[in-house]
Formats: sequence, structure tokens, C-alpha cells
Amino acid sequence: MEVYKFGGASVKDASGIKNVVSIISSAKKDELLVVVSALHGVTDRLEKLAYAYLSGDSHTNALFEEIKQIHFDVLTELFPDPGHSIFDEISNTFVEIDWLLEEEAQDDPDYLYDQIVSMGEVVSSKILHAVLNASGCVSVWADARNYIKTDNTYREGKVDWALTEREASHLTRLLKNQVAVTQGFIGGTSENYTTTLGREGSDYSAAIFASVLNARSLTIWKDVPGVLNADPKWFEHTEKIPQMSYHDAIELTYYGATVIHPKTIKPLQNKDIPLLVRSFIEPAGAHTEINNQPNPLPVPSFIFKVNQVLISVLPKDYSFIIEENLSTIFGIFHQHKVKVNTMLNSALSFSVSIDHDTRKLDALLESLQKDFRVKYNTNMELVTIRYYNQETIDRVTENKDIILEVKSRHTCQMVMKNKS
Ligand code: ASP
Ligand code: MG
Repeated sequence: MEVYKFGGASVKDASGIKNVVSIISSAKKDELLVVVSALHGVTDRLEKLAYAYLSGDSHTNALFEEIKQIHFDVLTELFPDPGHSIFDEISNTFVEIDWLLEEEAQDDPDYLYDQIVSMGEVVSSKILHAVLNASGCVSVWADARNYIKTDNTYREGKVDWALTEREASHLTRLLKNQVAVTQGFIGGTSENYTTTLGREGSDYSAAIFASVLNARSLTIWKDVPGVLNADPKWFEHTEKIPQMSYHDAIELTYYGATVIHPKTIKPLQNKDIPLLVRSFIEPAGAHTEINNQPNPLPVPSFIFKVNQVLISVLPKDYSFIIEENLSTIFGIFHQHKVKVNTMLNSALSFSVSIDHDTRKLDALLESLQKDFRVKYNTNMELVTIRYYNQETIDRVTENKDIILEVKSRHTCQMVMKNKS
């Protein structure tokens, strides 16, 4: 069996959904699990709705009406017959949010967030399922919350692999000789409460399903023809990489390549399941395969992260930055859930680059300042080059002042800012 994952961009409107249906139908796979995200932009809107509800904002209902309308507009285009059962089915699904919004927001905010935000995938998967069946490709709808089991860390559910492996046998039975449509991004606790796996988590869902089902491969359908060596947003000339090792894929996604969610590769690598990245715009075109072949990348790859804060931490008493200080510093970063993008230490200072998240930054700085002298600079850029050479370094550092540089054998990272 195989797993296909379609993200929000592929199901952004009625014609997008029809295109997805035609990819699924023409694949003619006997046993296929389709994992789908919410319609493009819907998770952002549901997130706004959740925050509005939690803060008692008077726009809450209007925000929800907009979300419903987006779905009914798409449905009306897909199903000209207003008596089609899908209209009632989607209305009934939305009623679950209506009930929740009627109550005062007294429960754990993260729990409430998940109950609201998860609905985007529930609804999109129901729509895709209905369109598939109407097109003659008979499929079943599967509720991911019954199969991906997590703990109750709402908004960032941790997968219970043992339970998830156990539930997979039911899904295998359901998939016998047919296509099943399920949701990315969502899971369920052992008490059957809905959780989400973290924003952009649908790739990860697809990898979890592929792993526990021992799929032959996972295909992620994107709006680009595979993995490129740089984001076309920053670079005029990009090259598609035909094959990539799991190792390089993890390094690139960890440092911020957004083409695949960073958590996706590990479950696949652990079971040696290849990941194909293909274009839903040109389904028959070339693609990228990520697998266990340890070939180096054919070209240097670049990852840009803007809006970085470079923080330098110095012991107040001029003691060395050694194990004890490091463990205190890392403890503080961990406590504030701040991810370090790159770091460098010297005898008396420890420097890191992090994403600029104002809420987290203030609290982090306050904690660090209790024990250390702290200096920081905002508006930095971080570039990571995998398989760098001098020419590529010169290219990206033109008109930049390099503030910090870290090199290992294959990876070069530079924190820099525009020359003043
Ligand atoms: N719909 C979710 C989000 O936008 C999950 C995903 O698309 O991967 O975060
Ligand atoms: Mg998305």
C-alpha cells in the first residue's frame, strides 16, 4: 500500500480539489491512503477564531460565518445539486464548533484551540471523499483521531507509537483493495479527545501513517516539482534535486527548508520507506526521491532565515563558558521552548541565533539576565549552506557583514546583516 499527502495549497478551491481527485483516480492504486490538509488558509482562520473565542471577542461569530462560507462556496461549485447529502454532512460537522462557541471558554485554552482548529481537516477530508465518490472512485473516509494516538499535550500532541502501531491493523483491514481518505495534522488521546500535532504537521501525519502501515512509499504532492536547492523566493536560479539521502533531508529541513516538515523524515528513515516529492501541477513530471542512498547533494543547497535575533551570553564573573554554564544556559532555552538555529561559544561568551518571537524573547532575556550579562541584536539573517564552497559563500554574503560563522565539514552557517 502507498500513502499520498495533499497540502492546503493543492485543495485551495474547487478546481484544485478536482485536480487532486484526478491524480488519485489516475494513479489506479489498489490500496491507497490519502492524507489531506485543511483548505488553503483555513487553519489560519480557525486559529484566529480560536483566539477570538478565548478572549471573548465580539467578532467570534462573524469569523466563524466566514469560514463556513468559504467551504459552502467551494461545495456549491463542486455539487450543483443543493440536495446532495454532503451539504448536511458539512453543516453537521460545523455544528460541533457552534456548540463549543456557545459555552464560555473555561477549559484549558490549548484543549479548546485543538477542538476548533482540527475541524479544518475534518471538513476538507469529507469534501474530498465526497468528490472522489461522485467521480466514480469509491473510497472510505477514515477518522485519523482513531488511528494516530497521542498524549494530551494539546497543540503539540506527542505520538504514542505503541498504541498507534496497534490501531494500524484496523486501518490495514479498512484499506483492503480500496482508497481511504483521512486527515493530516490531527490525532486523538486515549480518551478520544482531539489533539493537533503542531502547525504544518500534515506531512508528519502522513509519515506516521506510512510508518505504521509499512507503506511501500509516501508521496507528498506540492506546488513545486520536488525539492529545490534553494527557495525560489530568495534565488532566481534554482535546481531540482533528483535524489537526496534521509540524512541531508533532515539537515535541510531542520535548518529551515520549508518544503517538508522537519519531523517527517525520521519515521520514514526508521522503516526505510522512500519519500517522493512531486508536483500536483505537473503530476507526470520529474520528482525528488528521498531514500537511504547516501549520495551527497549534486549542488550546494541554501536555506535563508530572516528576522533572527543574535544573542550573546557572558558569565558576569568572567568564569569560562564550560559545562556548568552551558547546562544552565541550555536549561533556560529549553524552559522557554526556544529553538536554537545556530550557536558558537568562546572562552567567555556563548552566542546563538533564534527566530524573533517577541513574546518568547522578552521572557527568555529576563531569565538569562538573572545569571548572565546578555547582549542581543535583532534583524539578522541566517543562511545555512549544505555542501558549501567559497563561491557559494561569496555569493550569499555580497553586501553583508558577517557577524558569526560556523563551519562543519558539509555545512556552513552565517549570521549576517546588510552592510551599513
Ligand atoms: N492545516 C494545518 C496547518 O496549516 C496542517 C498542515 O497544513 O500541515 O498548519
Ligand atoms: Mg497548511
